[in-house]
Amino acid sequence: MRLAGLIGESVVDGPGVRLVVFAQGCPHHCAGCHNPGTWDFRGGDDVSLDDILESLTANPMLSGITISGGEPFAQARAFEILASLVRRVLPINAAQCGSRDYGVASAVASAAASAVASTVASTEAPVVVYTGYTWEALSAIDDADVSGLLLATDILIDGPYVEALRDPGLAWRGSCNQRILDAQASMRTGRPVLWRPRSHGAPTPPPACSGRPRLGQRPPSC
Ligand code: SF4
Repeated sequence: MRLAGLIGESVVDGPGVRLVVFAQGCPHHCAGCHNPGTWDFRGGDDVSLDDILESLTANPMLSGITISGGEPFAQARAFEILASLVRRVLPINAAQCGSRDYGVASAVASAAASAVASTVASTEAPVVVYTGYTWEALSAIDDADVSGLLLATDILIDGPYVEALRDPGLAWRGSCNQRILDAQASMRTGRPVLWRPRSHGAPTPPPACSGRPRLGQRPPSC
């Protein structure tokens, strides 16, 4: 997969401490995007699934993976494989919707999958995905890889960054048009369902623009 970069530990990209991978390439070109270096589809570097899984398993503090951008759905198949592997070895959400079975890509990935299961099995959201598309737009696309990535996602943070709606008080988002969706419930019901934390330790996202400063705010990019 083509990545703009990787952050080993983040607390502003979903619940808990997360490994974050940034997809290279974005068609949205939102005004005010914090990271326009991710736009060019020819930029970034090719990174293997094994390398990402090794980064995930090297840190026992991680709660899961966040796929950010750039636009992850522009590489839907590659990220579906990654997300499916991570979710399959994490028991809490794995049986809700199901995802396509790609098997394990290699011996390294197999070993990594076992390690993932032992280190981050308590997470309530193994896979968080950012997208500049709305859930409605993605779910209307007749593409098995797009729907496959939706099915392999636990939390989907959707919509483009809108400078006029910027709110530094929002958790995990840059502008208040962006939603934190329960991707599994949304796919089950066929409508966008807002995510609610199941554990007491997770932050509760504010329902609308609050204007309040908040620790862990996300910069204006996906
Ligand atoms: S804010 Fe996100 S969706 Fe918008 S241009 Fe930047 S990376 Fe792309």
